[in-house]
Amino acid sequence: MLVMKLILDPGHGGKDSGAVGNGLQEKDLNFDLSKRIAAKLSAYDVDVTLTRNKDIYLDLSERCEIANSLRADYFCSIHTNSGGGSGYESYVYTGAREDTENIRSTIHNVVAGYYKKAGFADRGKKRANFAVLRDTDMPAILLENLFIDNKVDAGKLKEASFLDGLADAISKGLVESLRISLIRQPEKSPVKIAAAAKPLQASAFLSSKNPQAPDYVNIYVLMEKKYGIRWDAVFAQSCKETAFWRFGGSVKPGQNNFAGLATFDGKPGASFATPAEGIEAQFQHWHVYYYGGNLPDGVKNLDPRRDAVLKTGWAGTLQYVEDLGGRWAPSKEYGSSIINDYLKPMMNIKIDQWDPAFEIAKLKRDGLINSDHQPGDTVTWGELATVLNRMRGK
Ligand SMILES: [Zn+2]
Repeated sequence: MLVMKLILDPGHGGKDSGAVGNGLQEKDLNFDLSKRIAAKLSAYDVDVTLTRNKDIYLDLSERCEIANSLRADYFCSIHTNSGGGSGYESYVYTGAREDTENIRSTIHNVVAGYYKKAGFADRGKKRANFAVLRDTDMPAILLENLFIDNKVDAGKLKEASFLDGLADAISKGLVESLRISLIRQPEKSPVKIAAAAKPLQASAFLSSKNPQAPDYVNIYVLMEKKYGIRWDAVFAQSCKETAFWRFGGSVKPGQNNFAGLATFDGKPGASFATPAEGIEAQFQHWHVYYYGGNLPDGVKNLDPRRDAVLKTGWAGTLQYVEDLGGRWAPSKEYGSSIINDYLKPMMNIKIDQWDPAFEIAKLKRDGLINSDHQPGDTVTWGELATVLNRMRGK
């Protein structure tokens, strides 16, 4: 389906200031409000065009011509009233068809609801022989937003927060009456689900980037259930923070700090007794962001930055990995980088269910076997006993 085309028409402009009063000019208010509406509608599946993008004069036929030549689907003219009175009213053409009246009715009611809450009168759904309503080829509405020459009305029109709320209401009315849908947001990665990557993929990904890296994948896997956080995202974060366990930043490998905990302002960062403790502290730091103040039963706090998160007001409010951006680290792209630069490539690694060469390479790396065994070689009892005793010694 084609995207709906909507024309917003900020009334007056340039040499034509429109109505004036209480230090306000109508052309400025109309323009300010129209820009706010256009901004709100940018989240929706609608193509918005303003008849004027700056303070210039357009006559009424030019405004209609813009809408007609674009074959717009709807025309919405924004004005401010004057001449003694207070409140809000809307107009359609005297000879408006039923669909034009129906759309107007929905918009009018939503906007009138906003005015009512602010204490302003609904002056009604009116009809008039205005050029922009008559000479536009599509259904059209004209909104008169309060009276510029009324002190109380003008006072409200000077409040940015009031205009912003009004823009919200008008956008909502347009969205509802014209059945405009939200633009689909880019897909995000939930945290409180089971990991999508397989442990072997994580190990293979890590050793492909740094063959010397220690393999703590099993520790990450074990923490998933305890903290209700997908281990693959936490592991991907460690790959990012440690440069695949090459370190090289201010944190040293012996600190067992794989997520840069407490490394802000040039500080060396936290240290943990064992890799397992460091990884658990990392899960706890995720936990406070995604679940809030209560650790799972019987768990003691290992995270030195827990209170800092609790103070931010973000505790327990995050949902997606992408939400870490601007929170865990200053960069807004921090979370999406964990996904796009680490987790996705990890998940793209193809793992055969049975990969003897990979398994042998792993044992060699960990010092459990050290000769050039081939996947097809037979093993003697003496060799098996040696491997088992080396494992016992680990
Ligand atoms: Zn006007």
